Amino acid sequence: RYFLDRIAKLDPQLNSYITLSEDVALKQAAHADTQIQHGDASLLTGIPIAHKDLFCTAGTLTTCGSKMLNNFIPPYESTVTGRLQNAGAVMLGKTNMDEFAMGSSNENSYYGAVKNPWNLDTVPGGSSGGSAAAVAAGLAIAATGTDTGGSIRQPASFCGITGLKPTYGRVSRFGMIAYASSLDQAGPMAKSAEDCAHIMQAMAGFDDKDSTSSETPNDDYLSNLNAPLTGLKIGLPKEYFGDGLDAGVADVIMAAVKEFEKLGAEVKEISLPNLNLSIPSYYVIAPSEASSNLSRFDGVRFGHRCEDPKDLLDMYMRSRAEGFGQEVQKRIMVGTYALSEGYYDAYYLKAQKIRRLIKQDFTNALQEVDVIMGPVAPTTAFGLGSKTNDPVAMYLEDIYTLSVNLAGIPAMSIPAGFSNNMPVGLQIMGNYFAEAKLLNVAHQYQ
Ligand code: GLN
Repeated sequence: RYFLDRIAKLDPQLNSYITLSEDVALKQAAHADTQIQHGDASLLTGIPIAHKDLFCTAGTLTTCGSKMLNNFIPPYESTVTGRLQNAGAVMLGKTNMDEFAMGSSNENSYYGAVKNPWNLDTVPGGSSGGSAAAVAAGLAIAATGTDTGGSIRQPASFCGITGLKPTYGRVSRFGMIAYASSLDQAGPMAKSAEDCAHIMQAMAGFDDKDSTSSETPNDDYLSNLNAPLTGLKIGLPKEYFGDGLDAGVADVIMAAVKEFEKLGAEVKEISLPNLNLSIPSYYVIAPSEASSNLSRFDGVRFGHRCEDPKDLLDMYMRSRAEGFGQEVQKRIMVGTYALSEGYYDAYYLKAQKIRRLIKQDFTNALQEVDVIMGPVAPTTAFGLGSKTNDPVAMYLEDIYTLSVNLAGIPAMSIPAGFSNNMPVGLQIMGNYFAEAKLLNVAHQYQ
């Protein structure tokens, strides 16, 4: 009730929720009360959380930020939301996001832009902007997000919260509406690394409903949080500190790195030479996969259908033209083009080769150091509307996050300080399945 009242009071300004699931929340909370009375509670029992609106929630509207799904009530539950529910968490509602998770500012949502609680004239980041704003404003204790190219880390950075993108395959994608299947990964967004560890404990792990889910056993994300950082080797990629990085952001990051030295870590410069190729490679691979994934939205089985179609083709064409927003249509066209005969080798295959080089860069660097640190984004939260007419400027925002998804490694954003009164996130990247290490490093700093 406390959270529902707070949402009713504050969210009209922020627009961080698309759907409030008040009835579900109160029912789950009552159930949690009974469990607590019977001494049958876990640490998540009764904890009010929110879910990004691309996790299918049985019986609760799931829009993916799109008009295409503005009437879609899934008949089944995603693994992530189901596991959190089983662990006792209470679902307050579904959070706003860029349509089909395509965006870096949450301005591509059919349900309106989300505002950054630190300054209502700025964006919260995207695509999990609703989840980040809700947690930052105290409208949920924690939230789920997904990260295909930075969508957990960048909004976490802009809103001053902690977010973890796990290793590809660590968390099940079952019931998560797909954007780019080889990059998508769900993770927790919360006030601290410790809270993220609790959520990970419930949501991570093998799922036979997702063929890309990893059978590597889960680590215990809580037991290692207090391990000392003495001797930890931190790598600072020189490419992350070059042109384009805001000086205020750089200062905050370097001050945070100094704190880690005080905690016993050793810092050295490393190189990730193919960083600059991450944007062109990602913006070929992600739209290609999206063009294929989004072909299922044809007005036949679910989602938006146009009025009075003349014939089948007319129904496909008008349903998709009406249901998808501009950015989504643009990416479907780019992806279709890149995958088409004659262009496939020049674009898609080339992008995949670059992806291999980027992965190799990380593998090499992580033989020398335990974790890699740098900024999450080149700037703090930018002004609402300031980049909407300049897609290249918007895509450049993703320079420090995309390569992590191309490689498949885990990474976090943790609050490191402020520049011009706006939060700055420090990015911590690690080796495959090193989530427990990242959470430990983050927790020691916090
Ligand atoms: N900003 C990136 C994009 O628009 C990443 C989004 C994401 O991680 N879902 O594709």
